[in-house]
Amino acid sequence: MSESSNYIGGVFGTGQGPEQTVINPATGETVRTYRADDESSVAAALAAARDAFPQWSGATPADRSAALYALFTELEKVAEELAQAETSQTGKPIRLSREFDVPGSIDNVAFFAGAARHLTGHASAEYSGDHTSTIRRQAIGVVGSISPWNYPLQMAVWKILPAIAAGNTIVLKPAETTPLTTLMLAEACGRADIPAGVVNIVNGPGPTTGEAIVRSPLISMTSFTGSTAVGRHIAALAAGNGTRLHLELGGKAPFVVFDDADLDAAIQGAVAASLINTGQDCTAATRAYVHRSRFDDFVSGVAELMGKVRLGDPLDEDTDQGPLASFRQRDKVAGMVERAVQAGARAVAGGKAPGGDLAAGAYYEPTLIIEAEQKSEIVQQEVFGPVLAALPFDSDEEAITLANDTAFGLAASAWTTNVFRAQEAARRIDAGTVWINDHIPIISEMPHGGMKSSGYGKDMSTYSFEEYTQIKHVMADLTGAVAKDWHRTIFRQR
Ligand code: NDP
Repeated sequence: MSESSNYIGGVFGTGQGPEQTVINPATGETVRTYRADDESSVAAALAAARDAFPQWSGATPADRSAALYALFTELEKVAEELAQAETSQTGKPIRLSREFDVPGSIDNVAFFAGAARHLTGHASAEYSGDHTSTIRRQAIGVVGSISPWNYPLQMAVWKILPAIAAGNTIVLKPAETTPLTTLMLAEACGRADIPAGVVNIVNGPGPTTGEAIVRSPLISMTSFTGSTAVGRHIAALAAGNGTRLHLELGGKAPFVVFDDADLDAAIQGAVAASLINTGQDCTAATRAYVHRSRFDDFVSGVAELMGKVRLGDPLDEDTDQGPLASFRQRDKVAGMVERAVQAGARAVAGGKAPGGDLAAGAYYEPTLIIEAEQKSEIVQQEVFGPVLAALPFDSDEEAITLANDTAFGLAASAWTTNVFRAQEAARRIDAGTVWINDHIPIISEMPHGGMKSSGYGKDMSTYSFEEYTQIKHVMADLTGAVAKDWHRTIFRQR
């Protein structure tokens, strides 16, 4: 697999497109090069998926489940190698890879191995009196999927597992900068004897390799995780193709601290939730709205704690925060902070790339911004870096209004010791997930997905089967009569 770019029909191969480079963002060094997959590889992958569909979708749920449990076992054997590879291509701290990305991904595989045997639907019954109505929940066909670079393994698992557990086959393209762990996942699929063609991987740039998947008439569904801008472009392509769509797009999660909150918990929670994965998390806390009576204490507490976060070599167990996943992303973050400061905001922690030994990597200091306008870019747009903006509010009503005042709706949290406030915030904040007195945890049994410009459809949990299956109603006559009762509407009553 070492030189391969693709996994098609159960075989590793090499693309014929331009050379791509995987860079370690902690050092700027090349981890690996590969040739991108062009349209011919994509066509071969789609054909392999199409050919594998009849047998895989016709397998018993128990057989599909057994194959996915075998995948779970194979992944557990290479957990440490996966963690090392994930860190080398993204720069995320090894602790995060070992304790979050890899075990979370493997748990998701285990979950879908079980869930494959438990598709749900309405009870069959004689709803009309003259027929038995039955629901069939069937696979859709070939899923074309595109995943991002922030959690490469986890996002590939979130896309592949519900799709194949439900009996679909898939062609997935990871981000061109982070192909390694997705190819290792494919390798584990091979060792687990998941039939050839059920899971296919191609690699290369979005506008070429990615679009070749989305435009193909062979796919029945597109599932995408990434930026809102690219998501909308893909939605337009999918509309042209008439294919079903599932979009998990950007976020701009509010973090609302009411006046009765446990401030120590809120401070620690805000630092952890804004800096996880160097802030490159679509659910990361990005906008802290804090009651004016607690605002100054919150700001000084967060700034002090951010100052203690250790930046360094991602392979060092003691490192808290690694570099951004690419120099391009680091420069984007730096540009947004610079523009915020020019517009009148202040960075009371961080606000720059560190010097010294870390200057060779794509590092950026944990950053707390205050005095930004609600309408400003830093409050409204996704930064996708270790940057939290804090703004004060005066009433519960204002807090909820500000929390809802962006285009996004992926995640949010409310910090309060008052159960009524907590329930009101959970009900009124427009987000696919609302945490109470925490921010970030996810769990395989529960859905993840957005509202508003954060997309639609769910990853994880049995709710994801709503995306990856289609419902068929089978209505069987029970009367055996030539003249059915409803024929009165066509023929005169005899
Ligand atoms: P993109 O949306 O560009 O990347 C996500 C995936 O889409 C990648 O696999 C990418 O491929 C692919 N892609 C890009 N253009 C196309 C296209 N025209 N057709 C098909 N596929 C395409 O994210 P960026 O890397 O540009 O990051 C920009 C911003 O997106 C980030 O700053 C962040 O705000 C947001 N983002 C959000 C994520 C989330 O989890 N919600 C994840 C990643 C990014 P390739 O990179 O190989 O070109």
